[in-house]
This record gives sequence, C-alpha cells and structure tokens, in this order.
Amino acid sequence: MLNIGQTENFSKMDKSQILAKFSSDPERYYKVSLFEEKGFMRKSCTKCKRFFWTLDQTQSFCPEDAENNYSFIGNPPTKKRFDYVQAWKEVESFFVQNGHKSVSRYPVVCRWRDDLYFTIASIVDFQRVMGSKVVFEFPANPLVVPQICLRFKDIENVGVTGRHFSSFCMIGQHSVPNSQGYWKDKCIELDFRLLTEKFGIDKKEVVFVEDVWAGGGSFGSSLEYFVRGLELGNAVFTEFGGDLNSYSVLDQKIIDMGAGLERFAWITMGTPTAYDCCFGPITKNLIETVGIDVEPKLLQEYFTAISKGLRESTDLTQVRKSATKQTKIDEAKYNKIIAPLEGIYLIADHLRTLVFAISDGALPSNVGGGYNLRMILRRVIATMDRFGWNLDLKELADMHIDYLKSTYHELDETRNDVKTIIGIERERYGESKTRMKGIANTLKTQNKMLTVDDLIRLYESGGITPDFLKQEQIISEIPSTFYERLSSLHQSEKVEKKEILNLDGIPDTIALYYGEDPAEFEAKVLKVINKKFVILDKTSFYPRGGGQEPDYGKIAGFDVVDVNKHGNIIVHELKGGIPKEGQAVSCVVDSKRRDGITKHHTSTHILNSSSRNVLGSWVWQHSAFKEEDHARLDITHHSALTEEEVAKIEELANAKVKENITIIIQNFDRGTAEQKYGFRIYQGGIVPVKSVRIVSIKDFDVEACGGTHVKSTKDVDLIKITRTKRIQDGVVRLEFVAGKAAREYIKKHAEELQKQLHEKAVKEQRDKLREQRKQEAREKIPALLRQVYEPDLIALKDNKIYVFEVKSRKFVYTANDHYDEYFHINFGEELVKHDPRIVYCGVFEEGGKVRTIIHAGEEASKQNKAGDIAKAISQILGGYGGGNPRFAQGGGPNKSKKDEAINKAKSMVLE
Ligand SMILES: [Zn+2]
Ligand SMILES: [Zn+2]
Repeated sequence: MLNIGQTENFSKMDKSQILAKFSSDPERYYKVSLFEEKGFMRKSCTKCKRFFWTLDQTQSFCPEDAENNYSFIGNPPTKKRFDYVQAWKEVESFFVQNGHKSVSRYPVVCRWRDDLYFTIASIVDFQRVMGSKVVFEFPANPLVVPQICLRFKDIENVGVTGRHFSSFCMIGQHSVPNSQGYWKDKCIELDFRLLTEKFGIDKKEVVFVEDVWAGGGSFGSSLEYFVRGLELGNAVFTEFGGDLNSYSVLDQKIIDMGAGLERFAWITMGTPTAYDCCFGPITKNLIETVGIDVEPKLLQEYFTAISKGLRESTDLTQVRKSATKQTKIDEAKYNKIIAPLEGIYLIADHLRTLVFAISDGALPSNVGGGYNLRMILRRVIATMDRFGWNLDLKELADMHIDYLKSTYHELDETRNDVKTIIGIERERYGESKTRMKGIANTLKTQNKMLTVDDLIRLYESGGITPDFLKQEQIISEIPSTFYERLSSLHQSEKVEKKEILNLDGIPDTIALYYGEDPAEFEAKVLKVINKKFVILDKTSFYPRGGGQEPDYGKIAGFDVVDVNKHGNIIVHELKGGIPKEGQAVSCVVDSKRRDGITKHHTSTHILNSSSRNVLGSWVWQHSAFKEEDHARLDITHHSALTEEEVAKIEELANAKVKENITIIIQNFDRGTAEQKYGFRIYQGGIVPVKSVRIVSIKDFDVEACGGTHVKSTKDVDLIKITRTKRIQDGVVRLEFVAGKAAREYIKKHAEELQKQLHEKAVKEQRDKLREQRKQEAREKIPALLRQVYEPDLIALKDNKIYVFEVKSRKFVYTANDHYDEYFHINFGEELVKHDPRIVYCGVFEEGGKVRTIIHAGEEASKQNKAGDIAKAISQILGGYGGGNPRFAQGGGPNKSKKDEAINKAKSMVLE
C-alpha cells in the first residue's frame, strides 16, 4: 500500500468487508474501459483468492504469488534503461503530454498539517485543515508531482531488502473528476500507457489487483498495478464518505494515484537492488572507495531470494538466513560482500533523506521530527565506524545534490547549510562517544539481555543508538520493532489540545481591528456567560493569538482582562462587573498597550528574518510571545548564539527599521499564497482558513499572520535584544524589546552602567587610600615602638595605641583601622621582644570579619598563653581562634562585640 495520506481509522476487518463488497460487483467498481477494450481477464488467485486483471491467459496466480516474482532483477522487461532522474523526466513528460500540470514537490517538512512532521504521501500536499476537517486544495487539475516522502517506520529494512527507503519519491497523479479532470477509466488507461508506451513494458506483464482504500472518513476502490511481482503504483478512487453501514457519494471525488519512482527506475535497470540505480554515482563511488569486489551474478541471486523471501516472512534475520543458504553464501563471503553493501546502501539512503529534510528547514534534535533525523545520521556514523570507513559525509551530500538538482533545483540553494548541519551533528556525535563508550562498558559488565524498552530508554536518555551497541557487541541484532516503536513515540507530539467553549447559536463576531480599528466603539452585548465572559456583535479588542497577547481596556466601564477567540467568536473576560445581555455598551481599547504590543509583533517578523539571514536557512520561528513592553522569539537553531551573532542579528534588524519599509497586508486564497510565496509563510504554524492574510516587509519577510502590525518599519523605532538562551535542543530564545521599551531599556542600561562605573571608581579610590595609610603605618612602626618604650602618652593616643600596666603586667592594644595584619605581626613581635612582660593585642577588620593578632612576651606567656587569649576573644566575636603560648590569632563576624572582646583580653592579662 503506497497511499497512507490520511489517518487510517478503518480496521483491517472493515477493509476486507469493503473489498468483499466491491469485488462482488466488479462491473461497478473495477471494470474500467481499458479492461474491456484490451480484453483483460479477471481471475482469482489460486493461492490467495484475490482478484486480479491480466492479459496473460496462462497466469493463475496474483503478482505476489506468481512464479516470475522479481525476475526483472538481471533481466529487465523494458527496452530502455532509465536511472532515477531520467525515470522522472519520462514520467513527467508523459503526463504533461496528456494534459497534466507538473507541480514542483512540496517540502518534506509538513508545515501545513499540525498532525504530521513529515510529508508521507503526495496526497498530503493538497490536504488542508479546516477546523476539525481535512479538505483538498489542488493547484491544478489534473496534476502530477514528484513528491519526496519521508517514512521512518520500516527503517531497519533500509539497505537490506533492496527496496525500502527512508525517503522516496512518490509520483503523485491526482485528478478531480469534473470538466478538466477525469475518473477511473482515463486514470487506468494513462497508467497502462505509461508502462507500455513510455517504458516499453509488454502489456502482458502488467497486472492490476483489486483492492480498497479507507481512511479519514472516506473510502473507495483501488487498483494496484504490478510488473513481475513489483508493485509499481496504486490508483485509489476516493468515492464514498462514511462507513460500510452508512455512506454516500462524496461531493468531491478524488483520484489519488501514488507510484514509487525508485521502483520505476529499478524495473528498467534490473539491478540487484533499487539502491543501485537511485542514488546516481554515489553507490558505485562508495563501493570503489570501500573496495568491495561485487559479484553481479551472486548479488542478483541473493537479492532476488531476499525479495521473494519477504513474501513469506517479515522476520529480516530469518529472510537473510534463508537467502544466504539458498545462494550458498558462506559467512566469510557474507561479511566481505553483503554486509558492507548493506552499509553503503544505508548510508546513501539516510544521507539523501537528510539532504531533503535539512534543505527544507528541519534540524536533527532530540525532539519531534528532528528526532528521526538525528537517529538516521547517527546510524550513518555508527555504520561507518563499524566498518572502519572514513567517509566525507559533506562530499557525499554534495554528490547527492549534484545528482538531484536537475529535478530539485532548490537543493542547490541550501547546499552549504545542509553541509554545515551535517558537520555540526557529526562533531557532536564524536564528542558524546566517550560518554557512550563508558555506558557501553557498564552494560558489558552487567551482562544482561537488553529488551526493546531498554534500548529505547538508552536512546532517549543517552542518545545511544542500537547500531552503536551492536558495534560494541552488546547486542547481536537490532530488534525489528525498535525503530517503529521509536518513531511512533514521537509521532503524536505535534498535536496540541484546545479547550472548547459551548457557543451554539452565537453569530461570528465582526472583527473591527482588521478594518477601521477604532480605539473607542459602541457595540451590543449578545451573550454573557458565567458572569464574566461577554460576547459582542463587533469588537476592536484583539484576542490572544499567534503569540500576541490580548488587548485590555473597558467595556461599559468594566475592566477587560482577557480576550480569546473561539472559532470566529471573540470572548471578552471582564472583572469588577458585567453588562446585561442586549445592552448597548461603550467600549475603549487601551491603545497605549496595543501600540506596544503591535511594535513588538512587527519586530518579531523583522528579527525572525534577520536571524535566518545571519544564521542559516534552517532558522524558522518555533514560537513567539508579544507583550506591551517585551517580547520573545524562539527560533530553530542548532547551537547557543554567540555575542557576535546576536550583534549581527540586531544590527540587520535595526537596518531594516531604518530603511522605513512599508508593511503590506493582503489577503490571498491559501493555495495562491503558497504558490506565490512558498511554505515560508507558515512561520506561525498552520492557517486553518481558506483565505490567508499575508504580511510582507518587501521580500525581506513574508508571513501568513493574523496579528496587528505597524504601518512602516520605522514606526518600530528601535529593536534591542536583551538576552538569548538555548531553551531546548535545536531551539534558541531571543528576548527583546522594541519602540519605547527599547529606548527605556537602553536608557536604564546606560544609567546602570554609569552607576556601576561610578561605584567602581569610588571603591578604587577607597582601596588606594587604605593601601596608602597601611603603608604609612608600616613606615611608622619604629617611631611607634619608641613611643611605647619611652612612653609618649599624647602621641600614643593620637595613634590609638593604648598601654596598661598593673603590677608589672603590661597590656598593649590597638584597634586603629589604619593598621593591617602586616603591621600587627611586626609591631607586636618587636614590642614583646623588647619587653617580655607585654601582651600585645591587635584588632582589625578584614573581609567582613573582625580579626585579632596576639603576641605574648616570654615572661607574660607564663601567666597568659597567647592561644588562650585568642580563643576567648574569638568566642565573643562568634568565631574560632588559637595558636601557641607566644603567638596566636583568631576572629569572628560579630563586629558589634569588638569592645567586649578587647576588654576580655585586657582583664585576662591584668587581673
Ligand atoms: Zn495470490
Ligand atoms: Zn506575526
């Protein structure tokens, strides 16, 4: 099944019932005019009973059960050989010649659906969300599109089965039956002619199998077409709405034909695998670089056996085993040829997926869709490590782009960005390897069986891929369910839940803010809910939305504290009172607040594009918040921003402000806007309405946006980034202010800077003075000593040195703040040397604490040990002290107890 564009909510049971019903009336559901004209026979498979249509009388098995399954390998059924790029050119020219418009591919990052990260089918391109419904919007009818689709569910098959890819090109042939478009007959006729006329496949080789498709509340018959067991395409005719019990014919029937371009190339080339003909020169180049001696015959046999084996079993290990047995490949040969080839195919495939995804603005990360991208890049590196290959991934990316650019020219424009991101991711993986090795070693010693849950935990918490564990020989095989489990874990993260208020019967509110936008207006109260919510017939109050905060103001004199939009109804939340239903009320919007919010909103657009210009094409708005006096913009970016980058972004933003660019707001039909501007317009997420409001700042920034904006960039006045921060893997936050808030910020910032500078100068002056005094004090030591020896009481008092003498005991102390540690140590030492009866106590402040230094002369220390005195003093000061009998020190934080401490020392010595 190629088509899985819609959510499949039909069970297998439902589908088999529908199939039984449709197949019981083949004339009505399956018999197209081509079958009639050419004489196709309807048969039931001898083995599985399914119905199929063929021109080959001898065939009694459906394509999946037929003997010639995969016999195109080594023996293609076409006269011409088309590689991947050429195959598309052929398909495209055929459909264009037959009245189709060829539409460029849509991004692989599905920006227009909020339930999908990646585009998984061509039909998804044309699905748009309207409320809770999915509608179809086709830019042309009929059309054909080479849509690259990303699918990560079957990733363990990639490189192994010969036909599974993590990304592939779905040839989408779409038609709506009306005056331009066609229905079943023409569709099948075209598909048949494409195979037989354009690709030269014998008409007897083409088999159509009856099937059905159901999903998203609709269903219809489908015809899958096969050549030699290979399903090339599936034409789905979406025709009915409802389910089997109750359904009706849809107003808009749709043909959704999806075919795999890789398979078209493969069947014409007949190479052992589709990988051999779909990556241009890359596969061959890698085989040569790595140095594998390929044996074409052996590979043909092996991969044919693999393809056939997959019909019987989905257990890859089992299929591999039986294929090697059948083709007599021993272990040595397997390790020499098959294993490295699988590695090469995987690398080529995964890199191609990364090229498309990064080019379309996705970043590898550990959240959301980025998750799968990081995982496949790590698989590439782990594979290289496992085989000891030193490949230049950037060079390989270049080769992919060179090969693909004739179909997808846009890849050329983002070439350097793609290589930058691959380089950064590879480096990061290298950095984390030491840590991973450590964890691997621990696991080895534990020697326990790892379950799929264990593996998922290891990857989720430590980024450790099972490929790495395999390489480290911790596990022997990667469980087949691992990647499926992992990708389903991260599938549903994108959908958010919204609260729904019951507003039945209330008409849509007329939004005045998109028109005249009066700050004062009269309105009628239509409804009051819960004594706080008010709904008016019309309003100028802008409701919260797209990150823009709501307007405040007054309704009938009561404060408006919140405004929200529910569908097209605007609900005001009031505080302090509420008007009556039916009442005519005067309303006033706080225009100062609105003005601030508006400036910040327009600045968000300017900064977003400035960031993308400065940093790279991977920058998208992740989310935004706009208030009256500040705002923030979260962008997708791989690393934290450097100061230089911030300065550059700010500089470019303000240059755009100065340019005074007129901001143009126009409404477009959604499809027209997408074709005209591309999907870059969806910076703020999907637009769930048919008409989009495009806000453009020349071609510098064009976004679909419902917010309020200034008339010209100069109205913003100034943008100042106040802070940036990496808030999650792959997302960086820019906090900023604009307009008056920016001026105020800068003024305040300048004042603060001035204040800081002043404080610094004052402190420096003070420190200098203190140093000076200390120096002077040191120089004064000899003079001061003399004053003590030959007591000069007046001089001593001037210097705050106090001498006490009681019965031949002497206590000298000073707490003069001009004296420092150096002074006290030297002064005290000299003092007690000269007179052994002296106890000297020096007290000073340092580092927010009171410190003390005690010297005891030889004689004095017999009475009072310096250590004891220091201990006693320190205790009073709330700290600790100690030392020997002659010298000690201590101190504590209690500055207010300084005098008490000195008195204690004094009394210890003198009493
Ligand atoms: Zn069958
Ligand atoms: Zn906006």
